[in-house]
Amino acid sequence: MTDATHDPARRSWVPGADRHTDFPIQNLPFGIFSPNGSDRRGGVAIGDWIFDLREACAAGLFNGVADDAALAAAGPTLNAFVALGTAHRRALRHALSFLLDSKGEGRACTEKLAEKLLHKAESCTLHLPCAIGDYTDFYAGIHHATNVGTLLRPDSPLMPNYKYLPVGYHGRASSVRVSGPAVRRPNGQRKRPEEAEPSFGPSRSLDYELELGFWIGPGNALGQPIPIARATDHLVGLCLLNDWSARDVQGWEYQPLGPFLAKSFHTTISPWIVTAEALEPFRTSAMARAAGDPAPLPHLADPADQDEGGFDIALDVLIQSAAMRAANRAPHRLATSNARHLYWTASQMIAHHASAGCNLTAGDLLGSGTISGPTHEECGSLLELTRGGREPVTLPGGETRRFLEDGDEITLTARCTRDGAVPIGFGPCRGLISAAPP
Ligand code: MN
Repeated sequence: MTDATHDPARRSWVPGADRHTDFPIQNLPFGIFSPNGSDRRGGVAIGDWIFDLREACAAGLFNGVADDAALAAAGPTLNAFVALGTAHRRALRHALSFLLDSKGEGRACTEKLAEKLLHKAESCTLHLPCAIGDYTDFYAGIHHATNVGTLLRPDSPLMPNYKYLPVGYHGRASSVRVSGPAVRRPNGQRKRPEEAEPSFGPSRSLDYELELGFWIGPGNALGQPIPIARATDHLVGLCLLNDWSARDVQGWEYQPLGPFLAKSFHTTISPWIVTAEALEPFRTSAMARAAGDPAPLPHLADPADQDEGGFDIALDVLIQSAAMRAANRAPHRLATSNARHLYWTASQMIAHHASAGCNLTAGDLLGSGTISGPTHEECGSLLELTRGGREPVTLPGGETRRFLEDGDEITLTARCTRDGAVPIGFGPCRGLISAAPP
């Protein structure tokens, strides 16, 4: 369901916005920022600028439902805003598109206030968009699950539950950070197969995972499931998510209760919430189930979700080592993938999560699971790309990697393109590995 805010002919008066690869006027993602060391408030990315929602509210630029939404988004977190739901978000999107449109009456009241309303993004600090109450990581990338399962159980890579429910585990919310700060290599217990006893020390198999994050808006009451057909009402938008993973720590600790310290030391997300509305032109069908796969059980089956519950989002993983940076070598692409390779849709993950009565809360974050494609060039982690560390990858300049070294910077990017739509992106999700604590 696209509307005037998606119109490819619409241009913005904000300098450079129309040429911006990620944030043209058709995107309008929400985030929390502080301009020049000032305090936190909500903003909207437009080109290389951030539109200040607090200043816009103070200037009286909105009215009605859009004003209610903008006021909720003007504070130091977006929790109150995302809790309002689709109608408020859509109204604010329309108002913003009107104010930033190069043609029409919005421009007249907005452009003369540009000095107050617009901040150069490079002079701002970006923060987590929401105070994240809970973070859940799924495992919905079927090629990733198959690749990893093959390393462990060549004969039956997928567990019997995989095609019946979206497998997930409860992640750690407190250590989610936005793109930018150093990611410290964790210390942990690790044990090689030939070693009799584990030892404690820096992870020797630090890895990234290419994932999408799904932001939850309105929640559900405890004990009250979310029907699959209503699940989209609870999805605010998407971000990129890097689920850093210490494979050696994970291999030793995960049985029988699943990942713990191997994942909880740090998770990096891109700072902007790219809304469900902005992504409407890039919706696609859910992944087709192979002949012989079970149909989803009724509480996870919805015809509309099967038709348009997926996303067509191209994803890349880039690496730049310390040596590459010193030699001025550009980041090297390790893999390219697409959100179409998720076996379960966001709505199915939401409906499943709430199906036993667990209450989701505004500002909760769901990870999709690593998104790998069917070919080796589409592996969303080093574990898969190097086949468990056995086949190192070679970087420009001749270095090799089994897993990440200190000084390596990993960048995830996302890009949506479709005929008849203006392409949009997510902004980068970056993390640079620093040495483990002594
Ligand atoms: Mn993961």
